Amino acid sequence: MLTADFDNITVLTAVNPDVFAGYAHGPIPDNNLGWKPIAFTTAIAGSTRKYDIKAANIVANPPPNQALVLNKENIGVYDILVNPPRQMCGMVLLDRPSMRRHIRHEHSGALVMPDCRAKRREDIISAHNAIKRWILQLGWQNASYVHGPSRGPDNSLVGFWCDTLERIA
Ligand SMILES: [Zn+2]
Repeated sequence: MLTADFDNITVLTAVNPDVFAGYAHGPIPDNNLGWKPIAFTTAIAGSTRKYDIKAANIVANPPPNQALVLNKENIGVYDILVNPPRQMCGMVLLDRPSMRRHIRHEHSGALVMPDCRAKRREDIISAHNAIKRWILQLGWQNASYVHGPSRGPDNSLVGFWCDTLERIA
């Protein structure tokens, strides 16, 4: 990778969220902070200690405010704001089922549940440009996380590009 990959106009003008693909990195506002579907609140108000929120619960009882779209290509960390204006969740995204479960349980009204279609080439390109721009502008380096990843999951895009930037700096 060359320096040119980082200061080309496409990276410098990258937007996040992309109007179609969604957020590639945070901070992602939670427009329904603390919201849970009725099925959950009903179960917890009764004798149930732990209720597994299902996607159908959220579909049946959608949150009041607009949920946002996470790009399927993203930095690999939950960049959802949990303590606005700055502090984000910071848990690392694992496999798709546990990712969906974490979103349903911890950020129930924040994100549109991702569909099962594969990510598109446009999703990937817009995400890579947005993440590069975020690293260049020190957004990643200054990010504040409750669960505090130091650099995201192994082999993450952020780790890769941070290393690259250190080498070319
Ligand atoms: Zn989270």
